[in-house]
Amino acid sequence: MSSVSQSEIATAARLLRAGRLVAFPTETVYGLGANALDPEAVARIYAVKGRPATSPLIVHVASIEMVHSLVAVWPDIADRLARRFWPGPLTLVIEKLPAIPLIVTAGLPTVGLRMPAHPVALALIRAAGVPLAAPSANRFTELSPTTAGHVRRGLGSDVDLVLDGGPCQVGIESTVLSLAGPKPVLLRPGGISRTELEALVGPVAGPEEVKDGAHPAPGMHPRHYSPRTPLLLVNDGKLPDRGKGIYLQHKHPPSREDIKTIQMPAAAPAYAAALYDELHEADAAGHDWIALDNPPETPDWEAVQDRLHRAAANE
Ligand code: AMP
Ligand code: MG
Repeated sequence: MSSVSQSEIATAARLLRAGRLVAFPTETVYGLGANALDPEAVARIYAVKGRPATSPLIVHVASIEMVHSLVAVWPDIADRLARRFWPGPLTLVIEKLPAIPLIVTAGLPTVGLRMPAHPVALALIRAAGVPLAAPSANRFTELSPTTAGHVRRGLGSDVDLVLDGGPCQVGIESTVLSLAGPKPVLLRPGGISRTELEALVGPVAGPEEVKDGAHPAPGMHPRHYSPRTPLLLVNDGKLPDRGKGIYLQHKHPPSREDIKTIQMPAAAPAYAAALYDELHEADAAGHDWIALDNPPETPDWEAVQDRLHRAAANE
């Protein structure tokens, strides 16, 4: 199980049961975990991240059995999706039981549940014996961490322990699918594509198709997942005429030869796995801007599109 020892897992589990925070690897990004059943521990997550109380947290479980004590109903469609995609980067939003404190769900009657695929995450949840509430282990609006080094640089001593399970394999946050209404609704594209979901459960609506007055995707702030350096989405390799930047090139040759260029992977999954690490590195180097090619408009790029548009947003 990578470089994390059994005794480190035991120490981390003890800290979690005592209400402390542990950062741990998942296949998507590193999580900042607390006992999901302990409201004071969960309050520490919001404080350390500077996360608004209106943004609900995902609850991580180690088995399908574990969700039964947390949800009011476990619909057949949830069972089919969990059996196909768990452990993996799919979060299911379901009506919750009172066992989940309201601070976890930002006051909502529903909870987002996911079984992560990283062996360290699963071992940690089992050892703690409780579900773990865990958002990404970074300050609010900053870039998500995909290595233990990113977590340490971002949160420093505000986290009690960081388990180093190596770089995250998926590298982008989970897909969030609401099963709380009559039809499944995709609240956030992510590691599992809409195409994969639809192959199993039929048509999946996007949040824009649900006009019921409520904010369907709480916590989806336009500016999220951002580096500090201005991020530009460019077409045909057209870089700004001014300033010194870096170009994360996908397909087009750059319009300026004096600009450092990094070749990004051609396929969406490999691109997603590399993206945050490249952005962290480019951000730390102190450029005037970071330019990236506008990614393709095809369904397999939906999650990358979403993150890049948010990262490039000014508000
Ligand atoms: P993060 O932990 O930063 O990856 O983001 C978790 C995201 O999952 C939130 O910002 C919401 O968009 C979504 N989410 C979590 N729980 C719920 C819920 N109960 N209802 C709707 N969306 C949720
Ligand atoms: Mg986050």
